[in-house]
Amino acid sequence: MSPSVIENTGERATLPPFRNEHEELRETVRRFVRAEIAPHVDEWEDAREFPRDLFRRCGELGFLGLKFPEVYDGQGGTHVHDAVWIEELSRAGGSGGVAAGLNAHAQIAMPPVFTFGTEEQRRRWIVPGIRGELVGALGITEPGAGSDVAGIRTAASTVSGGYVVNGSKTFITNGVRADFLVCAARTTEEGGHHGISFLVLERGMPGYEVARKLDKMGWHSSDTGELSFTDVEVPEENLLGPENQGFYLIMANFQWERLSMALGAVGGMLRVFETTLEYAKGREAFGRRIGHFQAIRHKFAEMATRIEASRAIAYNALRLFAEGCDASATEADPRKVIEATSGSLREVTMAKLFTQRAVLEIADECLQIHGGYGYMREYGIERAVRDARLGPIGGGTDEVMKEILGRQLGL
Ligand SMILES: Cc1cc2nc3c(=O)[nH]c(=O)nc-3n(C[C@H](O)[C@H](O)[C@H](O)COP(=O)(O)OP(=O)(O)OC[C@H]3O[C@@H](n4cnc5c(N)ncnc54)[C@H](O)[C@@H]3O)c2cc1C
Repeated sequence: MSPSVIENTGERATLPPFRNEHEELRETVRRFVRAEIAPHVDEWEDAREFPRDLFRRCGELGFLGLKFPEVYDGQGGTHVHDAVWIEELSRAGGSGGVAAGLNAHAQIAMPPVFTFGTEEQRRRWIVPGIRGELVGALGITEPGAGSDVAGIRTAASTVSGGYVVNGSKTFITNGVRADFLVCAARTTEEGGHHGISFLVLERGMPGYEVARKLDKMGWHSSDTGELSFTDVEVPEENLLGPENQGFYLIMANFQWERLSMALGAVGGMLRVFETTLEYAKGREAFGRRIGHFQAIRHKFAEMATRIEASRAIAYNALRLFAEGCDASATEADPRKVIEATSGSLREVTMAKLFTQRAVLEIADECLQIHGGYGYMREYGIERAVRDARLGPIGGGTDEVMKEILGRQLGL
């Protein structure tokens, strides 16, 4: 096999649903990320957070509002434009933490406010959110309930004019510095599928406290917080969507979160693959370039195939999701939004399951090809492995994805 064949293996053809306009956006995002994010990642990882100003800068350039209408200061694009941003941020940035912080805000905290919020709520949180002036977080997981979303214990009791919230949340991305928290709470004694609501809690509300900034294996430049709520008074205008239908809002949101993770994983695998291909072409052992050992060449062939499969499964899920979502853009009934995106449930679930394991194993294989250098921080490969380990856990574990798929098969 000639070296030129190896070179071509890593090349990408444009696949649907992406078109030329998306590829142009890809170039713009890549230039920005390479110039303003990638050079600072090591420093931000050490500091255990990227600067808050980065939200503002991304807002200024329009990257936080790609899929939101212009009337809210968005770019008037679709989820496909966001997909480009997510993939390139991960590919060119090389930091799971930076991507996690920016995307927790733009992909999981803002969407439910936009989809289910009133005009007033959109003005309050979406407009400054798109500008990067306010930072959002999504609060579902609790110390006693992660996969079992219906089992959350945080309770919002009804009082005149609103709610009083007591409870706690954990593992919340942007939890330490969020200005607003889209928070799931029980609004009936039983809770469960018909007794959970989404409330927007705001920094500064008495009784809302950041209990701890958590230390973790990867995603070092993102903040992950544990939050506690003691008699937090939340006005009724902070209720998002219909009362007691929060479970459906959560489910509607999971689809895009999981798809975003699949797209980020595609970017992550391309990054480690490309870096490692260069390395294997230059590094010598036993008088040969290591990429010319058959064992190493085969690793690249397998990784390239797996990356192409990941792109295909993620982009197909994106195509189906975007079609359903655009059709339901004006629906405020969570069940209808779920219905509209349920056409892609199977594909999104498969994409999340397949890509999160793939990026972890590809990053580990790339570390192996780097030998001892892969274990050193300066090559960024060890970070890729640590960051990728979150994928099979966050946004619904591999086991939960398999449960969804198994049930769809009638099992
Ligand atoms: C860095 C980080 C950032 C995060 N960011 C956020 C955030 O911004 N907002 C938020 O709300 N949450 C966030 N999470 C939480 C994340 O979504 C949960 O960790 C995840 O859903 C799993 O929940 P758990 O950790 O409680 O695990 P558990 O639910 O306790 O699961 C433990 C194990 O049991 C398995 N298991 C559970 N149920 C089943 C079942 N029915 N069948 C088979 N196996 C099962 C799981 O797959 C897992 O292996 C974050 C987590 C991390 C680590």
